[in-house]
Amino acid sequence: MSKESRPNMMWSVLTMRCPRCRHGKMFTHGNPWNLGKVLEMPKRCAECNQPFELEVGFWWGTGYVSYGLSVALSLVSFAIWYILIGTSTKDNRFFWWLGINVFLLLAFQPWLMRISRVIYLYFFVSYNPNYKVEGVTQFDYQSDEYMDEKNQ
Ligand SMILES: [Zn+2]
Repeated sequence: MSKESRPNMMWSVLTMRCPRCRHGKMFTHGNPWNLGKVLEMPKRCAECNQPFELEVGFWWGTGYVSYGLSVALSLVSFAIWYILIGTSTKDNRFFWWLGINVFLLLAFQPWLMRISRVIYLYFFVSYNPNYKVEGVTQFDYQSDEYMDEKNQ
């Protein structure tokens, strides 16, 4: 058994760590605004050997996550706008919010794309405190099932 304490899940998501060991980095480059390399990821976690793209086309489902996040962020930005500035049918304040919100969503798009992949993978892979000794569960194309893989 590992004596290390379990790293906090929210923190691991926000710092984009591997869901299985919560130590290994999921993205090769630290800066998401380095646009050519925004989605470059190692094939497997450097710490625990967990594969990140579980099957071909795995990241397709991240679209739903990023959509949900975009809606949530828009609601938050609207709430802040409503409290600080307010809206009215008599002027353009609502449209100012709309424009600024679109700008913010676009500006944060690289970060959203990454965090969506992280959250999506967290749905499928759970934390394993024994990641150092236990093998990872792998998708097996022959049997079409997830199999426990022996650690080298
Ligand atoms: Zn890992």
